[in-house]
Amino acid sequence: MKVIDHINQAKDTLVSFEVLPPLKGKGIEALYRHLDPLMEFKPSFINVTYHRSEHVFKKRTDGSFEKVIIRKRPGTESICAAIMNKYNVDTVPHLICGGFSVNETEDALINLRYLGIDNVLVLRGDAAKNETAFEPEPGGHKYASDLLQQVVNLNAGIYLEDDLKGTQKTEFCIGVAGYPEKHFEAPNMETDLRYLKQKIDAGADYIVTQMFFDNAKYYAFVKACREAGINVPIIPGLKPVYSKKQLTVLPKTFHIDLPTELSNEILKCKTDEDVEKVGQEWLLTQSRDLKKNGVPVLHYYTLGKPHVVANVVKQL
Ligand code: FAD
Repeated sequence: MKVIDHINQAKDTLVSFEVLPPLKGKGIEALYRHLDPLMEFKPSFINVTYHRSEHVFKKRTDGSFEKVIIRKRPGTESICAAIMNKYNVDTVPHLICGGFSVNETEDALINLRYLGIDNVLVLRGDAAKNETAFEPEPGGHKYASDLLQQVVNLNAGIYLEDDLKGTQKTEFCIGVAGYPEKHFEAPNMETDLRYLKQKIDAGADYIVTQMFFDNAKYYAFVKACREAGINVPIIPGLKPVYSKKQLTVLPKTFHIDLPTELSNEILKCKTDEDVEKVGQEWLLTQSRDLKKNGVPVLHYYTLGKPHVVANVVKQL
């Protein structure tokens, strides 16, 4: 079932989770152990992130270095199918521009269709680890809106080979990313919203936000979106804080702020177990407030901390 249908048919705020595919060399069992305690909350859908390949330099025996391409977390599409099969829940694979030619993207979408997956979250992806700015693959997409257009075309039965006859239309429900604290490359919020609106006007069904720790920022973002003529559901993305290290890692990686009240509480903590308790309480307060204000879905980035998320959702 499509995410947008879940939202349209819901009588109350829904819950969804986001997971990472296993590291290469590991089995899927750890992911199941991660999801098992979350399934009692009947998530409407589960997102699976996409992780592009990286270049690394490996030392040869003669001391020289060899450039090799590795992909640490392959398998987004098949993990989605496995989760659907095991838990009978809808899944949303993340699909990125980075590292894909348009032909590879089309093949991935065809595979998703065969697997019975109705949803995609279309994203640009970040710069590769060895690059300073995002570079599209030769023959690939530059912006999420270009990738979105390819999915919209496929939904209309338009494939890359224009001489295909009697093509089947895909029926993907399409999500896109939004940034309550602005995408870090955008010169200002107005410009960022203009491009976000472009994605909605081109056919995106809903928005999922980057994580935020201050609900006021989410509400201001929703207001600004509505004023800009963006009227699709805006799903808040939520993440627990569980270690002191995140005080610097989160702002650096995701270009977001942590409210002073939260950072002060974390600084007072003696251990990461204490930080986890603070983070859990903060997430619960955020979630209660968002639910009270009628958000369509509470989308949790579970990332290694399913018990924290479970403790929060249990109390809602
Ligand atoms: P875009 O919408 O393409 O925007 C990128 C930048 O370009 C913005 O600054 C925007 O304002 C600007 N822009 C957009 N369109 C145009 C245009 N036509 N002309 C000029 N400028 C333009 N990354 C992963 O690699 N894998 C994941 O699984 C993943 N999941 C994510 C999930 C969520 C909910 C979020 C919020 C992010 C996720 N990301 C993921 C990170 C995401 O790929 C990065 O934030 C990336 O830098 C931007 O992606 P986007 O889809 O927002 O890009």
